[in-house]
Amino acid sequence: MKTISILGSTGSIGTQTLDVIRQHPEQFQAVALVTHSNIDLLEQQIAEFKPIMAGVVDEQAYGILKARYQGPTEIVGGKEALTVASTLPEATMVVTAVVGAAGIEPTMAAIQAKKIIGLANKETLVACGSLITKAAQDNGVSILPIDSEHSAIFQCLEGQDVNDVEKLIITASGGALRHWKSEDLYSATAKDCLAHPTWNMGHKITIDSATLFNKGLEVIEAHWLFDFDYDHIDVVVHPQSIVHSMIQMKDGAILAQLGNPDMREPIQYAMTYPKRYPLRMEHLDFTKGLDLQFMAPRWDDFPALRLAFTVGKEGGFAPAVFNAANEMAVYALLDERITYGHIYEVVSTVLERMKDGVPTSIEEVLAMDAWARQEATNEIQRRSAC
Ligand code: NDP
Ligand code: MG
Repeated sequence: MKTISILGSTGSIGTQTLDVIRQHPEQFQAVALVTHSNIDLLEQQIAEFKPIMAGVVDEQAYGILKARYQGPTEIVGGKEALTVASTLPEATMVVTAVVGAAGIEPTMAAIQAKKIIGLANKETLVACGSLITKAAQDNGVSILPIDSEHSAIFQCLEGQDVNDVEKLIITASGGALRHWKSEDLYSATAKDCLAHPTWNMGHKITIDSATLFNKGLEVIEAHWLFDFDYDHIDVVVHPQSIVHSMIQMKDGAILAQLGNPDMREPIQYAMTYPKRYPLRMEHLDFTKGLDLQFMAPRWDDFPALRLAFTVGKEGGFAPAVFNAANEMAVYALLDERITYGHIYEVVSTVLERMKDGVPTSIEEVLAMDAWARQEATNEIQRRSAC
């Protein structure tokens, strides 16, 4: 029996993780569930999965749940709920399914508590790549990818000698604005960006998919997960999201992992690794015909992708600043304070002002994250006032 804490149990990845647990009650048990504020869904999850603890980060929502809940699950409130869940002695694995830099501290705490990490929260690895991977090595902890592209690469790399691998090829759906004309992109709104063609995900990652910031974050995530340098990581647009990613060997052979776009598959593989269990979902059926297309990204129209490579190569605090400024810009887009074109402007402006340096602790990354958020907020205000 694998016992699992889910950070962000009420979100897209969190609910799908619970569906995998629901399909294999003999193999998995949810021992901790944490949400930001969605206490109605959390309460249903508590009733169904009976975790040892449940956490609500938002203090007001915590107060409401605490007052009305009567059962045996321990209810913990505030930011520390994430760390309590990620270090719970009864948990062997932690699925990090919160959004953004909120995942940094609980993920590090989970690693120090020697939990297996099922990593969905890519922003943590982007912001703190060197610190997180070193801590994982020092503690003998596995970081198993949940992101579909990284799960695909992870599966393709199994049994290969990495010295025989020429490059990683990450596929990108291209997001909601893939067909948009260059001249229309700048003024695209949140509604335009949220119409994702293939994946049904949380709002933040759906916006990131439209801007290709998500693919940029994934390039940096791949660098840290697989220890490949940026000159050996490629991105190709593949609108159908059937080929989840590939590796190219040095003799030119390409290995790919395919499947329908359903996150339960990579989530379950992280949970069962190195075993395979059956999974009830619509499986890929070649006899129905399959039309797969691949094309180069539109680098100039979606400049975040090139910026991610630059920032990744630069290293130090740059990826943390890239991530934090983008988070603020995405929330401003969702609030309709700025448009598509402003996101790149805000992030690149904040990066230009950043002081160089190499992080030696999570605290330093968090301080830089806070600085970048403040700078991004100022930039957003300047633009939304125009
Ligand atoms: P959602 O917005 O759907 O869900 C986020 C979850 O985290 C919710 O349970 C939310 O609670 C909770 N949460 C958000 N902020 C905080 C916080 N500050 N403290 C505690 N809990 C918080 O996001 P997704 O599931 O789409 O994404 C989660 C992560 O997985 C992201 O890092 C994303 O990049 C990554 N990912 C997602 C994929 C997908 O298909 N969705 C694919 C690959 C990676 P509440 O419901 O109360 O707001
Ligand atoms: Mg992905």
